[in-house]
Amino acid sequence: MKPPKFRYHAPSSQAEALDLLNAYGDEAVVLSGGQSLIPMLNLRLARPAEVIDLGSVGGMDLIVTEPDAVSVGARVTHRQMEADPDIARHLPMARDAAGFIGFRAIRNRGTVGGSVAHADPSAEWPVVLLALDGSVDLRSKSGARCLGGDDFFQTVFTTGRQADELVVSVRFASRFADNWGFSEFQRRTGDFAVVVAAVACAAGSGGIGEARVALAGVADRPVRCPEAEEALIATEDPQAVAEVARDAFDPVGDSHGSTAHRKQLVYAQVLRAAGEALARRDKGRPDG
Ligand SMILES: Cc1cc2nc3c(=O)[nH]c(=O)nc-3n(C[C@H](O)[C@H](O)[C@H](O)COP(=O)(O)OP(=O)(O)OC[C@H]3O[C@@H](n4cnc5c(N)ncnc54)[C@H](O)[C@@H]3O)c2cc1C
Repeated sequence: MKPPKFRYHAPSSQAEALDLLNAYGDEAVVLSGGQSLIPMLNLRLARPAEVIDLGSVGGMDLIVTEPDAVSVGARVTHRQMEADPDIARHLPMARDAAGFIGFRAIRNRGTVGGSVAHADPSAEWPVVLLALDGSVDLRSKSGARCLGGDDFFQTVFTTGRQADELVVSVRFASRFADNWGFSEFQRRTGDFAVVVAAVACAAGSGGIGEARVALAGVADRPVRCPEAEEALIATEDPQAVAEVARDAFDPVGDSHGSTAHRKQLVYAQVLRAAGEALARRDKGRPDG
């Protein structure tokens, strides 16, 4: 299929892109890596009047290490996340998660900002963002703001981004670099995940002080599971955590699996991710 007619804009700066978004609002869409938008245009699932291509906007593909976080420019590709040494050092969960996204050709072009803006409930970046206490930096002609994952992801393909706002970067906390686990089930290599579990924890006095258990494939958006987080802190037992997570959701069944099958997948992925997080924590202990 061919896309519907639209006007194409290729701004050469972020300011120019923001001017265009301000002028056209919800008649415009932003084009980043095109790995979701181009198929949607071709299938005529999107019919924008204006397309604003970020391809010539410089400075949006930087990975910047901050004292407690790593800021990832919206146009950083999935492949950059897989290969960058700072990501491997400070956000190893993100490096591993990137390798599950589609195929190499998709990862070469698709971007972190594009993925979070698209908000597919099965995508990897949104669930990693929740697990790593991440946030999304938004900018419009009139100002800037930052939304945490819980506020940003609203429902299927819907976020807290306003029509005149650009996702400029995504920030992930780096305090979980030694205590994390990531596990996903996909039917075939390259397919979207059916269920993803991402677990991160940080030490407190005498045990785990902070735990984050995030899931994709169980709801209309990526979600945290507070019951499983409490169980991880209280028991430090992956099996107990997995049982709690399995019982916390009743995912809607579809062609990829019934409700019962998805619940079993939640159990299996959380068991593995929580087990990995605890094993990493134990390895890092002086007596580990
Ligand atoms: C065969 C195939 C397999 C795939 N498998 C996976 C997978 O397993 N896991 C996964 O997570 N993804 C998968 N994807 C999707 C891929 O990761 C996309 O790269 C991603 O969803 C969107 O990123 P993009 O840069 O290509 O964005 P685009 O396609 O350019 O844009 C996507 C949406 O985000 C908006 N947008 C983009 N950038 C911005 C911005 N900076 N500010 C505001 N809005 C913006 C666009 O307007 C559009 O609505 C797959 C895609 C294909 C074609």
